[in-house]
Amino acid sequence: MPDNKLKLEDLLDKTQSVDSPDKISKVAIVGAGVMGQGIGQSIASAGMDVVIIEKDKENLQRAQNSLSEFIDNEIKRWAMTNSEKKAILSRITWQTTFDNIGDCDLFVEAVTEDFELKKKIFGEMDKRAKGESILISNTSTLSLTKLAEVTSRPEKVIGLHFLNPVPKVPLVEVIKCVHTSNETVKIIKEFAKNIGKTPVEVYEYPGYVTTRAIVPLLNEAMYILLEGVAIAPDIDTAMKLGYNFQYGPLEMADIMGLDEVLTWMESLWKTLGEPRYRACPILRKLVREKKLGKKTGEGFYKYDHHGNIIE
Ligand code: NAD
Repeated sequence: MPDNKLKLEDLLDKTQSVDSPDKISKVAIVGAGVMGQGIGQSIASAGMDVVIIEKDKENLQRAQNSLSEFIDNEIKRWAMTNSEKKAILSRITWQTTFDNIGDCDLFVEAVTEDFELKKKIFGEMDKRAKGESILISNTSTLSLTKLAEVTSRPEKVIGLHFLNPVPKVPLVEVIKCVHTSNETVKIIKEFAKNIGKTPVEVYEYPGYVTTRAIVPLLNEAMYILLEGVAIAPDIDTAMKLGYNFQYGPLEMADIMGLDEVLTWMESLWKTLGEPRYRACPILRKLVREKKLGKKTGEGFYKYDHHGNIIE
């Protein structure tokens, strides 16, 4: 007897496409903040060409300097060589326009966590990209399905949720939205492995696995600080040594960027309605004061210009 039962997989994959990039050799990245720089470095390290697009010359220059400094720090720690730095930077082109990117096989959006902005960037990437190119977002909390719907290729829209610092974190969450085809998932999982990451497949849901699970921990550490239970370095030391974490929660929030952490919390609070996602007042205060963590030189700690904690 033939098996006539429709499988869920078949239903989900009715958008399977035939034209997909055979080989990924050139990638455009829009947004060169903490994440865009790290993603660019990881892809260029794997031998692919990268075009990085920023909104203006000032931000572009800042990103170029900061990436160069990040690699210099790695060289100082003997984790990289000068010739590796030269090879990586030679594969990256920096620009402030969407010109000359039509031959890119992948487009990665890594701009600020703002839905209207991301929608605009997705529209622009869709317009410039060749038919077979895949469009990726690095969003932590926004709806990929809605982003896919502003494009003419929703089956080729997927999330790739890298974690900070991208070159050092071996994980990436591969986020399948309602429209993403299985073929797109397959290509992107392969791409993730080619740039040295372990992909974990996740269905679209606010905060996915990593953001959803880490945010309440960061928030709780902030309340511990606010309630005067312990000072910041002691909270971090307790969590690092007690649970074998690489970073304590307050330093981790500083590395992630306190504005980003607040945006994720507000988005999770709005979409899931759980009190555990209500941001601690101390986080709001630091963001109001533009003390955004490591990237601005001050957050829960102060940092020197190499990004080392000074107090
Ligand atoms: P960031 O603030 O460091 O960088 C965002 C960059 O986007 C800035 O350099 C800004 O100038 C640029 N930008 C803004 N508008 C632009 C435009 N129109 N064209 C080109 N560039 C533009 O933020 P980030 O921490 O790098 O986060 C970027 C994305 O990655 C967000 O969606 C965030 O949720 C996600 N993410 C962040 C982390 C983290 O730990 N920081 C982790 C995973 C995912």
